[in-house]
Amino acid sequence: MKYYILFGPPGAGKGTQATAMVEKYNLNHISTGALLRKEIAAGTELGIQAKTLIEKGCLVPDEVVEGMIENEFKTVTGVDGFLLDGFPRTLPQADALDQILARNGSEVTATVSIMIPDEMIMERIKGRALKEGRADDASEDIINNRIVTYHNQTEPLIEYYSKAGKYNEIDGIGTIDEVRDRIFSVMDKF
Ligand code: AMP
Repeated sequence: MKYYILFGPPGAGKGTQATAMVEKYNLNHISTGALLRKEIAAGTELGIQAKTLIEKGCLVPDEVVEGMIENEFKTVTGVDGFLLDGFPRTLPQADALDQILARNGSEVTATVSIMIPDEMIMERIKGRALKEGRADDASEDIINNRIVTYHNQTEPLIEYYSKAGKYNEIDGIGTIDEVRDRIFSVMDKF
């Protein structure tokens, strides 16, 4: 089983690129953001709690997303691996992931990081807001908070996975096809 992490700031194009990646490498796509939005739409207790945090551009508690990931690993079969999109987003989540995988004698295969500069994040998310209507894409304040959250809580993972020799960064500037080809050339190595 392969365990890929799709990493990058909000608006880098992770969701867009994930579709091509799961198809080419027969992976199951796990987006913690999408799973949380599903809970919100279904009006579950978890969804109600997550909504307030998401709409402020904050992260939901580590245990919540860790539980979701573990559950997906247990229930999905018939794939060659998983593509984790938007998880892990904090050092404790990265540590929890290592432990979950180690219990099954596995480990993270590689991190594929799509990088774009901060100036592009706002522009990209505003474009997406028009198409997808996500509540957390709605205001500049919320987007700014997500950028700050990314730098403070998620960026330390670059060092974490670099030290483990599992960090692969690709340039996220270019057309969707150009970025996809850069990703494929990294993933073909594993
Ligand atoms: P995304 O669709 O990945 O941009 O996620 C949307 C929002 O869901 C984030 O801004 C967070 O509030 C929440 N979220 C998604 N994944 C995580 C995670 N791994 N840890 C904490 N919060 C998350």
